[in-house]
Parts: sequence; C-alpha cells; structure tokens
Amino acid sequence: MSEGDRAPVPLDQESVGRLSRMDAMQVQAMALAADRRRQAERARIDAALARIEEDEFGWCVECGDAIAPARLAHDPAVSHCINCAK
Ligand SMILES: [Zn+2]
Repeated sequence: MSEGDRAPVPLDQESVGRLSRMDAMQVQAMALAADRRRQAERARIDAALARIEEDEFGWCVECGDAIAPARLAHDPAVSHCINCAK
C-alpha cells in the first residue's frame, strides 16, 4: 500500500454540485409535467362541462355517435366514442 492509497478520499465538490443540480432539475421537470397533466385534465373537464351546457354530452365530438355508457362511467370527460378514440 502506498502513501497515496491511505489518503482520505477528497470530496469532489464539483460533481456533487452537478448531481444535486441534476436532482433539482429532475424534480422541476416532474413538477412541470404534473402541471401540464393537471392543465390538460382541467381542459378536458371544462370541455365536457361545455358539452353538457350545449346538450352535446355523451355524443362523440368526432362522428356524433353515442359514447358507450360504460366508457362515460369510466371517464365522464371522455370526448370520443371508442371507434374515434382509436
Ligand atoms: Zn366517434
């Protein structure tokens, strides 16, 4: 064993800083993604409420066919019938 092997392992400040910055960026990216999901969900619900107002709720916005009740029960904000959603 040489003298150098017994020397304390230096803390690499720069790489630790990079790591925590990457952590912070990842947390931020996840928060932004969650925000976007919430906004998209909000828009879907608003659109569904507008369809209720216009008596269009339950009808596919694409083809005008009735959306299956089970599909609506699973997700009341759904805007397309099963055929058009594919
Ligand atoms: Zn349709």
